[in-house]
This record gives sequence, structure tokens and C-alpha cells, in this order.
Amino acid sequence: MENSLPLFTVQKAAEFLGVNAGTIRRWAHNQQLNGTKIGIRGDWRFTKDELLKMAKSNHESHSLHGELPMGEAEHFVFFYENDESLINSVNEFLSKGDSVIVAAMHEHRAKLDESLKEHRLDMATGTSQGQYISFDVIEILPKFMVNGLPDPKRFFDLMERVVIQASSDGRRVRIFGEIVAYLWAEGNHGGAIRLEQLWNELQKKYSFSLFCAYPMHGFNENTHTTPFNDICDLHSKVLPAESYSKLDSTDARLREIAILQQKANSLEVEIERRIKLEKQKDEFMGIVSHELKTPVTSLKAFTQVLKSKFQKEGNLKSAEYLAKMDTQINKLTGLIEDLLDVTKVQGGKFQFHESYFHFDEVVDEVIEEVQRTTEKHTIIKKGSARKKIFGDRDRIGQVITNLLTNAIKYSPNANTIIVKLSADKNELVFSVEDFGVGISKNEQSHLFERFYRASGVQQETYPGLGLGLYISAQIVQRHGGRIWVESKKNEGSTFSFTLPVKNKK
Ligand code: ADP
Repeated sequence: MENSLPLFTVQKAAEFLGVNAGTIRRWAHNQQLNGTKIGIRGDWRFTKDELLKMAKSNHESHSLHGELPMGEAEHFVFFYENDESLINSVNEFLSKGDSVIVAAMHEHRAKLDESLKEHRLDMATGTSQGQYISFDVIEILPKFMVNGLPDPKRFFDLMERVVIQASSDGRRVRIFGEIVAYLWAEGNHGGAIRLEQLWNELQKKYSFSLFCAYPMHGFNENTHTTPFNDICDLHSKVLPAESYSKLDSTDARLREIAILQQKANSLEVEIERRIKLEKQKDEFMGIVSHELKTPVTSLKAFTQVLKSKFQKEGNLKSAEYLAKMDTQINKLTGLIEDLLDVTKVQGGKFQFHESYFHFDEVVDEVIEEVQRTTEKHTIIKKGSARKKIFGDRDRIGQVITNLLTNAIKYSPNANTIIVKLSADKNELVFSVEDFGVGISKNEQSHLFERFYRASGVQQETYPGLGLGLYISAQIVQRHGGRIWVESKKNEGSTFSFTLPVKNKK
């Protein structure tokens, strides 16, 4: 009997349910929560039964109303599987009559703008209309990104202004942001995590609810586990993908968790098994390339002996054949060396013999060497670095050789290769530009992976193992530099790398 007495004021009800008073009033007003108005001022009172019912329905409801406590300063993250459920969830979150700020990707923004306008116009006929401020991620990013990271001062300057404007009429502010998801998709994981931290800092000063959303498929690699956890930790509430959160009872959810646990377990076992197999394969490759190297080295030595013997005897035709044989042996040696290098990288045995050396000297030597292998192409050098670097001279030479030979190999119909050199006090930049087959945008990000060869590269026309760029990237990165490509299909490519320069010595 006692439970039915209307005992709870708005404040007490808010404490009981762990939400704020405004939320209780809104629920009561929308008749989501049954209450009674008492006194001249019409203050709400609620029974404990009704509050318990509300708590239960919140817990079991599959909608975001249940998932998202309507606290003032929540920071949610939703990992969604398809766009439709993202739009629905964001709509549900935003269309509450509060002021709304949206910073979304182009494709989502248009849909959201449309559906939110509908909601907000409806609202205009009822109570009153909240503010609605919408940005495109691409437009807003450059306003606060500096060198690939969000600059705190610029970010706060910009967002403080927007939040203050949105809350000017005393309304609560709700923000839907996809800037972090965009940075993540671009591979700027550090930038995304830093931005999440900045949002949290902003929330210490201003009161707003923030809804972040990332597509679940952006986390499909083993190495994403740690940053995924970091992202979850930076949020006050995590919403799993819709295939889970749409389940409508506790029982269904528990079953789903059990199924997911089984899947995770079997995947872990499978990954371990594959890592073991991969290791065996690498060891095998190491042994094979090592065993191949010895006979090929002696084959090369005998070829050279025979060649000079024929030359001395005046048998120039045979000497010429042997010179051709020598070229083929060099190619074979190159392939074997690449295979050996890869197994060394994989086994953590890739060693460098480091010293100080002039970068320009190595470039000149390699250009001269590679120029001798082609009659069709002319290698033009522009600029100079005039810097010493500390590293493995031969390995850096190997990277330059690789980029130059690729530029020749993949531009059979062009006749110019441009090498550019420049430097500032911290780093030097080396680049090789060709006017050849080029590489499509979606293949560019894979070029530096082991065994990767762009599609459309025919083995007969462009033979190779897809290892040179992988090894080059390893060398550059181990020297503290960066390597990248800019390219347009059928127009040509520019491969560049940086190296830190040594100003002393
Ligand atoms: P390989 O040339 O032996 O295949 P690399 O690792 O050097 O191996 O290159 C990987 C792939 O990158 C190549 O198969 C080719 O598809 C692409 N590639 C490399 N350099 C160029 C270039 N200059 N122009 C166009 N495609 C290139």
C-alpha cells in the first residue's frame, strides 16, 4: 500500500532514477512517467511503483531513450553497423527540443538535416524550436587541425563559441559529432583519440550531451583492440552495434553475449594458429632464400671469370652472352636479397650498420648506377639536401634504388624521371616522380604492405614480388622517417620519403 503513495517530488524522483530533474519533468510531461500534479503550483509527485516501472522500462527498452540516460553531460559512443540505424539513433538523440549541433560527414549530414528539420518544424507548432547548427566535417576540420593533430586552443575557441551560441536561450545542448570517426577512418588514430580528450575537457566547462558514432567496420584489425578500448574509456557510455542493442529482452541479450563470447574465443584460437603457421612459413622462406643465395653467388663469380676469359681471347659474341647472363643473375640476386630482407624484418633480425654520411652523395651514386640500366629514361635531379644523416648508407641507397627502378619499370611509355631533394633544419625530403601507369586511390594505402601488388599489374609486363616498397618503408621508418605516395591512375606517381637530419658533426 505504502508503495502507491505519491511520495516522490521531482528532485527525489531524479535522485532515485539517477537522472536530472529536467528529465523527470519532461518524462512526466510526455506521459512516459505517470505522476500527479498537486498544489496551486502544480508540482509533480510520483509513486515508487511508477518510478520502479520507469527504471525497469529504461533498462529493458531497446530504444536509445532507455540506453541514453538524459544526464546533462554525457559523452556517448555508438559503434554502428549500418547508416540507417545511425541516422535513426542520432535522430532519436537529437530531436528533443534542445539546441542541436551537428558536425557530420557529408553523406550523413544531408540525411540528418532533412529528418531533423522535419522534427523541429513539428516542434515549432508545439512548444518552441531549439537552435540547430550544422557543420560538414571536411569544412570544420582545417579550422583546428595543426600538423595532423587537433590544436587545443583553436578547438576550444571554435567550439566554445558554438556551444555558447547554442545554449544562449537557456536550452540544453546536444551535439552529434563525427569528426573523430572521420579522423579514425583516415588512419589518424592519434588525432581521433586526442579530439575525444578535448571534448571531455570542454565538457568540464560547459554542459552538453555529446553523441559520437564510429562505424564498427573501422575496427576490424587485431591492432585496433587497444585504441578501441581507449575510445570506450574516453566515453561515459558505450552503445554496442545495433545487432545487439536492438534485442528486446535481457534474455535475448544474454544469449547474444554468450554467442559473441564463443565467437571471440574461437577467433583467438584461430589467430594464434595462423600466427604459428605464418612463423613457420617465414622460417621456411628464410631457409630457402639462404640456400638459393650460395649457388647463385658462385654462378655469378664463374660467369664473370668466363666473361673476362672470352674477352681476352677476343670471343666477343660469347662475352656478350655472358654479360646478359650476368644481368639475369643480378636480377635473381636482387629477388633473393628481397626475400632474405623480408624474413629478417619478420624475425626481428633486420640490422643496420650506422654512420654519418652525406645524403646527396648517395643519391648521385644511385642515379648514376640506375641511369646506366636504361636508355629510354633520363633521370633529372632537382635541388639538393646538403645534409648529413645518421644511418645505414647502403640501406638508404637500397630505398632510393628501389624507388628509381620502380619509376622506370612502371613508366614504360615515358622518358623522364624527376628526382627532387630539399631539406629544412629538421628533415630532408626525397621524391621520385614518374609519368607512368599510376595507382588508384584505394590501392595506394596498401602499397607498402608485404607482397602487395596493385591490380592490373601484369606479371609478364612488370615482374616483381611486391616486396621492394615494404622493405623500403621498413628502412625509412626505422631511420625515423616517413614514406608515402601521391599518384593518379594513368598519369604517374610520386614516391617520397623524409629522413631526420643531423646538424652536428
Ligand atoms: P614490385 O615492383 O616487385 O611488385 P614493390 O613493393 O616495389 O614490388 O611495389 C609494389 C607495387 O606497387 C607494385 O607491384 C606496383 O603495383 C606498385 N608500384 C610501385 N611503384 C610504382 C610506380 N612508380 N608506379 C606505379 N605503380 C607502382
